[in-house]
Order: sequence, then structure tokens, then C-alpha cells
Amino acid sequence: MGYFKKELAKRQADPKGRRWLFVPYDQLSDQIGPLFREDPKNLGIVLVETPWKAARRPYHKQKLALILANLRHFALEQAGRGVAVRHVIGEGPYATALEPLIPELGPLRVMRPAERELRADLRKLVDQKSLQFIPHEGWLSTSEQFKESDPKASPWKMDTFYRFIRRTTGLLMEGGKPVGGRYSFDAANRLPWHGKPPVPEPLSFPRDPIKEEVGELIEKRFNHHPGRLDLEAIPANKKDAEKLWSWARTECLPLFGPYEDAMSHRSRSLFHTRISSLVNIHRLLPSLVISDVATMKLPLESKEGFIRQVLGWREFVHHVHETTDGFRNLPGARMPVEKAPGDGGYEKWAGKPWGSSEKVKGPDGGAAPCALGCDGPLPPAYWGEKSGLACLDTVVSDVWAEGYSHHITRLMILSNLANLLDVRPRELTDWFWVAYTDAYDWVVEPNVLGMGTYALGSLMTTKPYVSGAAYINRMSDYCPPCAFNPKTDCPFVSLYWAFLARHEALLKTNPRLTMPMASLRKRSASRKKQDQEVYKRVREILGKGDNVTPQNL
Ligand SMILES: Cc1cc2nc3c(=O)[nH]c(=O)nc-3n(C[C@H](O)[C@H](O)[C@H](O)COP(=O)(O)OP(=O)(O)OC[C@H]3O[C@@H](n4cnc5c(N)ncnc54)[C@H](O)[C@@H]3O)c2cc1C
Ligand code: SF4
Repeated sequence: MGYFKKELAKRQADPKGRRWLFVPYDQLSDQIGPLFREDPKNLGIVLVETPWKAARRPYHKQKLALILANLRHFALEQAGRGVAVRHVIGEGPYATALEPLIPELGPLRVMRPAERELRADLRKLVDQKSLQFIPHEGWLSTSEQFKESDPKASPWKMDTFYRFIRRTTGLLMEGGKPVGGRYSFDAANRLPWHGKPPVPEPLSFPRDPIKEEVGELIEKRFNHHPGRLDLEAIPANKKDAEKLWSWARTECLPLFGPYEDAMSHRSRSLFHTRISSLVNIHRLLPSLVISDVATMKLPLESKEGFIRQVLGWREFVHHVHETTDGFRNLPGARMPVEKAPGDGGYEKWAGKPWGSSEKVKGPDGGAAPCALGCDGPLPPAYWGEKSGLACLDTVVSDVWAEGYSHHITRLMILSNLANLLDVRPRELTDWFWVAYTDAYDWVVEPNVLGMGTYALGSLMTTKPYVSGAAYINRMSDYCPPCAFNPKTDCPFVSLYWAFLARHEALLKTNPRLTMPMASLRKRSASRKKQDQEVYKRVREILGKGDNVTPQNL
């Protein structure tokens, strides 16, 4: 018997006469729901580990380790409080792992899972009344509030929802008005970072026997998954979560606002908090981080900026995902749905299909909207082949090192380039899903399909987030060591104009693109032809997994 099993057995309480709760991998908190309110002596929890979940996609090793280590620590923490713990290792879907337990434990409850994929998996048990969904208390707003915030429904605007929720919660409000006279200080949050002020050093979290055992399991059973495993970068228990949040509060948040949009090869996170992977599994509660920040002494642009991300964006994307059934039902249209989970370009990079030839059975692979009709493959550069574009190579290497990069790198490097190359949005979404430790369908799909790629058209954002080299050069230090010069030969420049030209018919009436579309019209025919050639060349070279150089363009 391994260390975890022995420790759990030592702490195990008498399971008789308990009311049982299924706790999914992303609800690891005893500060919400029945675990918070009910007497631990009357409660039992079921925790499930199943390699079936890992087999569905080529998830980053770090993500598997983060979830398993937190789940096992959570099991011991709850057993230590007197909660009876049933830890199950399944082989198939979650429903298959839970079903045999029902005759013994009675009908289970579960807080309504955040992931649609898990809800779909559990549907059968809910229908046969073996499992009951109860409200998920981790969210900060309700679907009724979301509907009320904007009665005309789509297109949904984050700002409208955010203002509504600020007014209803009274957060950062004074006498019915926003503190500082404005709801958003986004415009004050656009400083580049030139090496000063010093950025906080990311924390490391000591190895412990649980992490060691999880690490061994990953290396033994999940070694075919991509990414680097770094056990010390993983916050795994309650104490680690508190330590991370304390570091984020004191070291990151004071300068979070002004440098929110900056990017640097010298720091993976700059002043970003790195809390998302713990917030999304509820090791850190959104309500806690919001109430702490609301009462902290912080510059207003940092305080408001952070609150907007968690109370605004995070809640907003979840509501849009729920309302549209994961973008299957868009206003006036049903979207195509993938039969099976996508591999995010793994096969093209690895030269072999993901997993066994036998399809992993289970819920579908998600909606595949594509307003711009883009259908290109994701180049192997996203899997770590060098591209010759310093900005891309830096961010991709960050991602495979740790399963993390901050928001602007996700938006303005990874999604931006994928847009400029007409990559299929679903494939990019699947890549983000497997590569980042904080990715779950409800958050990754809206962020990539809705914000990163414009696959949903103007349903969530007013324009596609695309840029040429000038923006990247202004907001980062990626360009000086690059083989290309952002002012002369950087391919992003032509790629940007080629993108606008290819999608001119759809974008020319967009009021937020009036200026660039006017500039496009003034661009000479020969420049446009050259833009198109660069687009074709870059797609071809990166598609083969080769390096783009000033010589081969
Ligand atoms: C293309 C793309 C894909 C993304 N995929 C994910 C994803 O899979 N999972 C995920 O949690 N976030 C995703 N985001 C949103 C955002 O980039 C991350 O939440 C953030 O970078 C996490 O790092 P951090 O904790 O250091 O965040 P900070 O910058 O410190 O922000 C604080 C918190 O705000 C919340 N937040 C900020 N922006 C968003 C947002 N747009 N949506 C949801 N929550 C937000 C997160 O909980 C985050 O931890 C994505 C954004 C883009 C553009
Ligand atoms: S010069 Fe171009 S390719 Fe190189 S880092 Fe800058 S934007 Fe990226």
C-alpha cells in the first residue's frame, strides 16, 4: 500500500450512517456547500481518480500532478476533520465509478459541476435519481443576475455585466457611484515593463510524500503526456494555497494594475498572481480573494483591475458558457459539435495519434464555431518546435515548462498568431485546454472561442484581437533578441495586413476597425500581394515544423 492509502486508512472515520457527497476534482473546498455547513461526523465524501479523464486529451503532466496532489491532500484534510472519505480509482467515466457505490451509500449529492463535460458524464445518474445536483456555492453571481444584467441577452458585454454586479454587490461603490468615478481603470493599466521595479520571484512549494507519490505515478503511468513535471512549482495543500495567496497579495497586487498588459522573457508572470489554477479547483475561493482585495490598501487601478478579472471576467465567461450550453446553442444558430475530444495539434507534432487507437468513450469534444471560417492546423511550434519568432518561442517554452503564462501572452501572442495564420479555433481551444493547468471547458472555451479568436463573431467581444509587431514591441522585451526586426522585416506586420485583407468582407463594417480597414484600403496592391505571400510562406514553413528566418521568408 502506498503512502497516501496508508495515511488515509489511519485517519478513516466510521463510514456508517453518513450522508454522502461526491466531490469532483475541481471542488476541493470545505468552506462552501455541505462540507462547510454540515457536521463532519455525519458526512461522507466520494473522491474519484480515473485515468479515463487523463486519456481523453494529452494534458500537461503538471496539470495531472496539480489535480491529483490537491485531491489526495484534500482527502487527508477531510478525513482529519472526521469526514468519512471514500477514495475510488476508476477506469472509465465518473458515472461508471460512482454507480456501483449507490446501493451501499445511497443517493449522492454533488454541487452542480462547473465543467459541462462532467455534467454530461453524470447525466445518467441524475436521471435515475442516484445523484442530485445541488447549487454550486463557489460562484459569486447567479444565472438570474446574469440575465437581469442585460435583458437583451446577446451580444453579451462583460462591461455591462460587471457594472451590474458592482452595483448589486456594492463592491468598490460609494453612495451608488463607482469609487474613483469610473467602473474601469483599464486605460491606466498599460505600462510596459523595462526591468524595474523588480518583479516578485515565483514561490516554490516543498515536496512531500503525497507529491512524490503523485510524481512517481505520473512518470510511470502518464509519462506519454507532454510537458515538464516540476513538483516544487505545485501548491498542493491548504497551507500552500494560503502561502500563494499571501505572496500574491503582498508581492504582486500593489503593481498588478499598471503592468497588467506587459510581457517579458525575464519573468513568466510579472505582477500577475498565478492563482487561477487553485481558484478553478476551489483551493482558493473567489469570494475570499475578492473580499480580501476589497479591504486591502491598494492603488485603485490595481484593486479595480483585479476585481474586474475575478468578479467580472471569470463570472462572465462562466455565465456565457452556461447560457449557450457550451456554445452549442448560439442565438439563432446551432453550432457543429466535435464527436470526440480534439488533441490540439498533438498528432501533427508527435507524428502519431494521441492515446490508443480505441476511441476514449464519453461526452463529445465540444462546439466548433468559426465565424471567420478559419480551418488551418496549429503549427508544431505550439508544441515546442522552434519557430524562429522569439515572442512565440518564449511563451510556448513557458507554457510547456509550467502549464502557465499570463493573460496578455495568451491573447496577444498565442491567440494573435493563431488568428493571423487562420488556425482552426477549435484546435487552438483544445491546445489551450491541454497545455494550461487552469483550463476547464467553462473557462477555456469562452476565452479562446469568444475572446482569443473571434470564432463567435461579436457575441462576446467587439472585434478580433489581432496585432502586428508594433504592439508586441511596445509591450514586451521579446523583440531585441529576435532574428527579426519589428520595424523592418518582422512577419507579424504582413501577417496582420494579410489577415485584415482575407477577412475584409466580414470586418469592413466593424466600427472598432474603421481605422485599420481604412489603412488597408490605402495599402498598395504590391504590398498586399507581398503580405499574402508572407502569410503563405509562414504557414508553410511553420506547418512543416521548421524555423522562419529573415532569409527563408
Ligand atoms: C486565449 C485565452 C485562454 C485562456 N484560458 C484560460 C483558462 O483556461 N483558464 C483560466 O482560468 N483562465 C484563462 N484565461 C484567462 C486568463 O488569461 C487567466 O485566468 C490568467 O492569465 C490566469 O493567470 P493569473 O492567475 O496569474 O491571473 P491574474 O492576471 O493574476 O488575474 C487574477 C484572476 O482573474 C481571473 N481571470 C482573469 N481574466 C480572466 C478571464 N478572461 N477568464 C476567467 N478568469 C479570469 C483568474 O481567476 C485569475 O487568476 C484565458 C485567456 C485567454 C486570452
Ligand atoms: S520581431 Fe516580430 S517575431 Fe520577433 S519577437 Fe518581435 S514581434 Fe515577435
